Amino acid sequence: MPEDLKKGQANEKYVEVDEREKAPHYEQRKWEEEQMSSAVFRFGARDKEKIHEKGQEYDLVLDDEIEFIQALRMPGSKPDQEDENEPKLTESEKKKVSLQETRRSLPIFPFRDDLIQAIEKHQVLIIEGETGSGKTTQIPQYLYEAGFTRGGKKIGCTQPRRVAAMSVSARVAQEMGVKLGNEVGYSIRFEDCTSERTVIKYMTDGTLHREFLSEPDLQSYSVMIIDEAHERTLHTDILFGLVKDITRFRPDLKLLISSATLDAQKFSDFFDEAPIFRIPGRRYPVDIYYTKAPEADYIDACVVSVLQIHATQPLGDILVFLTGQEEIETCQELLQERSRRLGSKIRELLILPVYSNLPSDMQARIFHPTPRNARKVVLATNIAETSLTIDNIIYVIDPGFCKQNSFNSRTGMESLIVVPISKASANQRAGRAGRVAAGKCFRLYTAWAYKHELEDNTVPEIQRINLGNAVLTLKALGIDDLVHFDFLDPPPLETLVLALEQLYALGALNHHGELTKLGRRMAEFPVDPMMAKMILASEKYKCSEEILTIAAMLSVNGAIFYRPKDKTVHADAARHSFFTPGGDHLMLLNIYTQWADSDFSTQWCYENFLQHRSLKRARDVRDQLAGLMARVEIDLVSAAGDTVGIRKAITAGYFYHVARLSKGGQYKTVKHQQTVMIHPNSSMFEDLPRWVIYHELKFTTKEFLCQVIEIESKWLLEVAPHYYKPHV
Ligand code: ADP
Ligand code: MG
Repeated sequence: MPEDLKKGQANEKYVEVDEREKAPHYEQRKWEEEQMSSAVFRFGARDKEKIHEKGQEYDLVLDDEIEFIQALRMPGSKPDQEDENEPKLTESEKKKVSLQETRRSLPIFPFRDDLIQAIEKHQVLIIEGETGSGKTTQIPQYLYEAGFTRGGKKIGCTQPRRVAAMSVSARVAQEMGVKLGNEVGYSIRFEDCTSERTVIKYMTDGTLHREFLSEPDLQSYSVMIIDEAHERTLHTDILFGLVKDITRFRPDLKLLISSATLDAQKFSDFFDEAPIFRIPGRRYPVDIYYTKAPEADYIDACVVSVLQIHATQPLGDILVFLTGQEEIETCQELLQERSRRLGSKIRELLILPVYSNLPSDMQARIFHPTPRNARKVVLATNIAETSLTIDNIIYVIDPGFCKQNSFNSRTGMESLIVVPISKASANQRAGRAGRVAAGKCFRLYTAWAYKHELEDNTVPEIQRINLGNAVLTLKALGIDDLVHFDFLDPPPLETLVLALEQLYALGALNHHGELTKLGRRMAEFPVDPMMAKMILASEKYKCSEEILTIAAMLSVNGAIFYRPKDKTVHADAARHSFFTPGGDHLMLLNIYTQWADSDFSTQWCYENFLQHRSLKRARDVRDQLAGLMARVEIDLVSAAGDTVGIRKAITAGYFYHVARLSKGGQYKTVKHQQTVMIHPNSSMFEDLPRWVIYHELKFTTKEFLCQVIEIESKWLLEVAPHYYKPHV
C-alpha cells in the first residue's frame, strides 16, 4: 500500500515526501511545479472575500480548513466559456421537463438509429461511452422499441452491482410508464422481481452466471447486454467466455458489451474483432485539486472539505467517495452534527447516503432534485463511480480509497481490505464532477501520491479473489478444463489449483476433478461453497431448520445490531442479552428465533436495538434457501436444542476457517499459523475457547475473526477426514 495513502498516516509522512523531492527527484519536482503553475491557494478564499462584500460573515463559520493545491484541469469535450466559479446548473434550473424530453436530451439519443442498425448488422458489438450518456437505461428501451422482444424473447442486461440493477430498472420502468416487475424487472441474488410479462430484465452478472445452469443457451433472450464491462468483476469476466461461446451456435442472439471509456479495444480483440460503437461523450472540464500534505484521517478530511465547499463555493451538489456503509454512516453523523451546530449560518445541506445494503426507497432519494437554495451531499461507495449517475454533481471529494476483496493464494486467506484506488478510478471519479457544468474534484491526497503511488489500472477481480464459487459453477456447467477456458485475462494458476483443492476437500469434486453428487447439489445454492456445504451437511446432523436461519443471518451480517451514539450502553446491554453459549452463530439463531416468536414484530426489534430491515431481509433469504432445499430434496427438520449437531454442520462447511488458542494466549489459524484475534464485537471475545471456527477474517487495525463459534478438535476429523489428519 502506498505509504502516503495509508489510513491514519500523520503529517510526518509529508516531511518524508519533501525529503524525497530533493536532489534525486528533480524530475518529479519539475513536474509538480509545471502542473501546479504556482496556484497554491486556499480554495474558497477568493469567494470568501466576495461573500464578505455582501456583508455575510462566513469566515467565522469554519474552525478547520484543508489546504488544497490546484494542479491541473481535466479537459472536457465542451468548450468552457463560463466563469469557472459559477457553474451553470442547467438541468436543475430547467423547468420540469418531461421524462421523454429528458430521454431525448441524453448524449446517446442522436445515435439511436445508427446503433440499432449496427446491432442488426453485427452479432457482437462493443459499445463505449462516457458514464451517464444513457447506455444502461436507453439501449434496452431502444431495442424494445425496435422490436427485439417480438416472439416472446427478452432483452437481458447485466450489472456488476445489485443497487445498480434495482435502481436502473426502477428508472426504466418509470420512463416506460410500467410497474416495476411487469414489463421491466430485475433479478438479483435472493430477489427476483420479474414476471411472465417481463421483456427487459436487469440482473447482476452473478445472477446471469447462475441462469446458465438452467438455460445454457440463453434461449429466452434475443439480446444480452454485458454492461459495465470495464468493471471486470469475476462474474463479468467469466460471462465473457460463456457468452462468446454461445454466439457461435446461436447466430440469432445479439451480444452487446458495453463499457465506460476504458478497455474497448481489448474487448473487441477478445470478441474476434467485434466492431466498436463509440458514443461521443459530453463532458465539461474539471479542475483537480490535491492536498498539500497527506491527510491523517480521511473521514474527517471529507467532513471538513464538504463544509468548506458548502461555505465558500457556489451552489451545486457534492459527491463524496467512501469505502463502505460504516464509513458512510460515520461521515453522515459527523456532517449532521457539525452542520446542525452551524445552524442558520449556512444554507440547507441535504446529506444522502448510498451503498449496497441501503433499502431501495432510500436509494431512490439520491435522485430527487435538490430543493432551491439547498445543496445535496451524496456519500457513496464505488457504486457512484460508473454504475450510477447522479445529475447535477459539481464537486467531487475523493479520498482515494476503496474496499477490495483480496485473496492470498499462498495462505488461502480471503479478506476485505481498504486499498488505494487506481489512476483510472481516480479519473472516473473526477469525471463525475463535469457532467452538467465545469466542476471541481478535490483529491484528499498529494499530487505526488497520485503520480507515483497509484497503479494505472485496477487489477481485475479474477486475478485477486478466491475462485471456489466460480469454479464450482463452471464445473456444474460441464466445463471441466478450466486451465484452457477462454478467459479475457486468465487467473493465476495457483489460485485455480487452490480452488480445486478446496472443492475437493469439501467433497464437491472427486479425485479426478469431476463434480460429485454433493458438488452438484452445492452448485444449486447461490452462496459460497463453504456455506453450501454447511447447508447440505445439516441433513446429516438433522438441523436444517437452524442451519438455514444461520445461513440467512450470516448473509445479512454486519447490519443486524443498531447502536445509536446516544444509547450505546442500552444497545450493548441488549446485544449481551442475546449471547448464547457456543458462540455467535448460535446467537444469530437465538435472535432470529425470538424475533419469529414475536411474530416478526418491528416494535420488538426496536426495543432490542436490532435493525428490522436486516432481519426482514434474513427472512427473505431464508425463504429462498428453503425453496432450494426442496429442490435438492432435503426436508426441513429441527435439532430441538442440540447445539452440537448445529456446530458440527457449520464445521463441515467451514473447516478451512479454524483457529486455535496457543500457549501464549493468542489465536493462530491452524493451516498457516497466522496470528489473529477474535473481534471485540464477538460474543466469544472474552471466552477464549481453545478451538474456534470463524465465518470471516477482516483486516482493519489487525486481522480479526468475525462471527466465531467454539468447536471440539475431534469434530474436524469427523467432518473433514481428508483434510485433517489425526495428529492435529
Ligand atoms: P450510462 O449507463 O451511460 O452511464 P445511464 O443510462 O445510467 O448512463 O444514465 C442516463 C441518465 O439516467 C443519467 O442522467 C442518470 O442520472 C439518469 N438515471 C439513471 N437512473 C436513474 C434513477 N434511478 N432516477 C433518476 N435518474 C436516473
Ligand atoms: Mg451504465
